[in-house]
Amino acid sequence: MVKKCLNMSTTVKEILSKEEFTQSDLISILNAEGDDKISLYKKASEIKEKYIGNKVWFRGLIEFSNICGKDCLYCGIRKGNKNLVRYNLDDDEILAAAKFAYDNRYGSIALQSGEIESHDFADRIENLINKIKEMSMGELGITLSVGEQSPEVYKRWFIAGAHRYLLRVESTNSSLYRKIHPDNKKHDFDRRMECLKNLQNIGYQTGTGVMIGLPYQTIDDLAGDLIFMKEFDIDMCGMGPYIEHADTPLAIQGNASLSLKDRFDLTLKMIALIRIMMKDINIVAATALQAIDPVGREKAVKIGANIVMPNITPGRYRDSYKLYDNKPCMDDSAEDCQSCLEARISLADAEVIYGEWGDSQHYERRMKAKIKR
Ligand code: SAM
Repeated sequence: MVKKCLNMSTTVKEILSKEEFTQSDLISILNAEGDDKISLYKKASEIKEKYIGNKVWFRGLIEFSNICGKDCLYCGIRKGNKNLVRYNLDDDEILAAAKFAYDNRYGSIALQSGEIESHDFADRIENLINKIKEMSMGELGITLSVGEQSPEVYKRWFIAGAHRYLLRVESTNSSLYRKIHPDNKKHDFDRRMECLKNLQNIGYQTGTGVMIGLPYQTIDDLAGDLIFMKEFDIDMCGMGPYIEHADTPLAIQGNASLSLKDRFDLTLKMIALIRIMMKDINIVAATALQAIDPVGREKAVKIGANIVMPNITPGRYRDSYKLYDNKPCMDDSAEDCQSCLEARISLADAEVIYGEWGDSQHYERRMKAKIKR
């Protein structure tokens, strides 16, 4: 018997052969199981092979501070979590980590931290970008992931040499966003969206994504997230499963409706779908996948992801950048992370490309189209 999907008229295989997906198509695919799920993964992996190749680029991840001014209800480093030792790497430690990435021919680093908006913070990041560019003779690419900032600050950092920015919108459904954040100006959905638009307008390779398997989240929400990312014309995508952190209000409420395994499955489906919908963007294999499945990141690489972020934060700080429970690689050194990831990636039949930025091809195409206009 041919399995029919939710809209009762079209099979998943038929939907997968379409050029564009409707919201209802996406819902059908997100509900796919068995052979239909395998067809989805097969199609996504063929598209990755055709447009990107079986390649992976590294972004050496430096989680340089867990000091955060926000209180997101799901996040382990939220301001209100008092069961946490706060740290802030000094500039020399950050530069040493960047040098490790450079010496090991990682094309790029990613600087991530809690969210602080201040003059000092803006100056510090600008200064660090300059120093990293100088140390690597302009060769290390720099991705930033330090949250919401003013357009002026984003511009200063772009001029200094950061060229990619990852700002997850967490959910594109504003009422779900409200449920997972405190209801105040510091956690404003419209501001987050505005920041993403500002980043794109300034000229960054702009990345976003959502958490998958959040309490209150529906399959319709996830389909809406995919449509948003396509319409916004993102260059990079970073999506991962939501995982409880015991010291957060969302985990304490305990109302997650999906098992971890279901969240993992849905994340793989979302990654496969965004690869099919946006063939030439960069997609991160999120570390959170490995918290659920030991070979989670490899599975993501197989079905569409092409970016992996080895953690190069000095080991003694890692325990304090715990966004969720069971975060993997907490006591590895940067060297351990590299050799372990390289072996893992080859298990996924992919090759790590060293010494290249691995920029989003989508961004290049988008820029060329903009110049023609
Ligand atoms: N503050 C910056 C920002 O918000 O863009 C960057 C740091 S923030 C901790 C990085 C990401 O961690 C968030 O965008 C969120 O998606 C993810 N995250 C936080 N708590 C999580 C959890 N419990 N499960 C899965 N991902 C989580």
